[in-house]
Amino acid sequence: MALRTIVEEGDSVLQKNCRPVTKFDRRLHMLLDDMTDTLIEASGAGLAAPQVGVLRRAIVVLRESDESFVELVNPEIILEEGEQEGAEGCLSVPGKWGLVKRPEHVIVRAQDRNGDPFEMEGTGLTARCLCHEIDHLNGHLYTEVMERFLSDEEAEAYFEQRAEEKERGKQE
Ligand code: ZN
Repeated sequence: MALRTIVEEGDSVLQKNCRPVTKFDRRLHMLLDDMTDTLIEASGAGLAAPQVGVLRRAIVVLRESDESFVELVNPEIILEEGEQEGAEGCLSVPGKWGLVKRPEHVIVRAQDRNGDPFEMEGTGLTARCLCHEIDHLNGHLYTEVMERFLSDEEAEAYFEQRAEEKERGKQE
């Protein structure tokens, strides 16, 4: 297990357009393994390569439906529909939450760690996470598209509500 340092807002690495991955080699596999370890350690929902200082188009996201981590190399959104508004945070903007509008449903085309193409579908939180991480690859943070920051009380209320909904979902 190897943890990488997460860079924070203000670092110019987060404002750069990342290059496509062209070599699906051991170096890429190490990067993806380290990103997943780093994400788990930070209890995050997604991480993009530039957040660990690597300007390549690779992300890892938590898929809500089965709570697994999915690696997406060279991801591209090929369909987005609907709209949702909710709280969004970023490991590179620690301790803050913003109110952000995102599509409710997305389909992303990407390659796996061996270069094989696949598609991933996401709704709700997973769709939000995919959009957020792909924005990182284009040098954008959610703070550029949010309506406003949430107060601590608002963020707390939002997460309590979401935890209750999740609990209810399990019981039904
Ligand atoms: Zn982020």
